[in-house]
Amino acid sequence: MKEKDIFCRIIAGEIPSTKVYEDDDVLAILDISQTTRGHTLVMPKQHYDNFLSCPKEIMHKVYDVAQRIGQAEMLVLGAKGVNILTNVGAEAGQSVPHFHVHVIPRYIVTDPGFQITMKAQDTSGMDLPRLAQSISDKMEK
Ligand code: 5GP
Repeated sequence: MKEKDIFCRIIAGEIPSTKVYEDDDVLAILDISQTTRGHTLVMPKQHYDNFLSCPKEIMHKVYDVAQRIGQAEMLVLGAKGVNILTNVGAEAGQSVPHFHVHVIPRYIVTDPGFQITMKAQDTSGMDLPRLAQSISDKMEK
């Protein structure tokens, strides 16, 4: 049998967590790392490996909770912004293979615990219209 991931174990009550929100389908807990104050993880109680493999109905419920937590954090924590982030696959930084959304309150651009850098690349060798079309063609209808 496949070993339970850490979030399945938290959901099952086998290991403790600091709960922010819970309903029949969704659990939100404080991230143990607290990259910024209030960093929260929102996850479905049922196991799905990641955002891409999660059924839409559940995915929508998770994002609904993430939005409400972000709104609350802006109100009570003095956050000036929020990063809503989900990682899919180890290459994208996913370390726990159970779909979860990070809600990361932001206080200053240079919050020491969390930085995102997106650097523009040279696109001169790319056929952007063709690239866009190839993605579009493969989208689920
Ligand atoms: P990922 O890298 O998969 O996007 O995010 C996994 C997150 O889970 C990390 O931010 C990490 O700090 C958090 N995490 C890992 N183990 C635990 C745990 O046992 N409890 C809590 N609350 N968070 C955890």
